[in-house]
Amino acid sequence: MIPFIDIHAINSRFEASFKNQFQDFLDSGYYILGNQVSAFESRFADYCETQYCVGVGNGLDALRLILEGYKVLGKLQEGDEVIVASNTYIATILAIKQAGLKPVLVEAEKETFNFNIKALKEAISSSTKAIMPVHLYGQIAPMDEINNLAVYNKLLIIEDAAQAHGAVYQNGKRAGNLGHAAGFSFYPSKNLGALGDGGAVTTNDASLAGVIKKLRNYGSSSKYVNELLGVNSRLDEIQASFLSVKLPFLDADNDARRKIAGVYIQGITNPKITLPRYDGTKNHVFHLFVVQVEARGGFQDYLKEAAIGTLIHYPIAPHHQEALKEFKALEFPVSERLHQHVISLPMSPVMTPAQVQKVINVVNAY
Ligand SMILES: *Cc1c(COP(=O)(O)O)cnc(C)c1O
Repeated sequence: MIPFIDIHAINSRFEASFKNQFQDFLDSGYYILGNQVSAFESRFADYCETQYCVGVGNGLDALRLILEGYKVLGKLQEGDEVIVASNTYIATILAIKQAGLKPVLVEAEKETFNFNIKALKEAISSSTKAIMPVHLYGQIAPMDEINNLAVYNKLLIIEDAAQAHGAVYQNGKRAGNLGHAAGFSFYPSKNLGALGDGGAVTTNDASLAGVIKKLRNYGSSSKYVNELLGVNSRLDEIQASFLSVKLPFLDADNDARRKIAGVYIQGITNPKITLPRYDGTKNHVFHLFVVQVEARGGFQDYLKEAAIGTLIHYPIAPHHQEALKEFKALEFPVSERLHQHVISLPMSPVMTPAQVQKVINVVNAY
């Protein structure tokens, strides 16, 4: 059996260090917002080359608290429009809605799985205040084009970097340092994953970082003094310590993912399979290796028969989700087609060459 992702194998590499961290954690008797969280925050900020990192409870809250933070700072107001891709994971859209803002969905580009720039441009109105690019599947969004539009229209850029830890854009900057602020998730299956929930905001904006530090902890910076209407969304000490163990290995893991992607791209020659476009640079960290197939259902069953695990990211377009029925009348033909035909092949830094070759052979025999 080749699982879609073997999280146990990913984490068992760090088992001895995790056990040490857990013992230290038990001995410390300190569980919430202590030294481990601040140490990880400064390590992750260094890694992303941003000035600030604020640990929060999960990726959805990271995005939501950035938006709430900008409201506190007067840069966003209830009802402002935020532009977002129509083929993203629902969390990006939920963050906008939960912050009392209006998501404006935009058509995708089938080659990049990202914004169609022309559609993005057309979606900008006088109520638009921010763009939320998603580095979907681990590939950085077209940030130069997005930046040009944002500068011209005076818009905030908030990256959803939940799938792109460590990706490097063509200007040499990492995901998380390509806009005004970025949200990360450390959900276990992400490229940098905790052993539970976790998330972080990165930014170079001191006032935003300060506000989010309060918002994540009941709007308070000193105990029982509440300056803002905050929430409870803190990164756990124990998760922060596990993330500090894993962070030094993130670049090597991303290299391993890119190498596997390269072998897939070289090896898969079946004309029924459309491969992802990849320019060979570090702007992709292959959180997912997503191919397109006409008859997806049959292909997925075929791989299952051959004991190869796959997942679909994502089977239903956000505007077709019951929870977002307000968008049901919208039409995004490219995005809708992607939702019908994408399928993710096994991808993780611990896949063996033999496993990768087996996937290639089975896919080519389809
Ligand atoms: C995982 C993910 C999130 C949400 O992260 P959680 O930690 O699960 O809340 C947001 N956006 C994208 C693109 C994601 O992949």
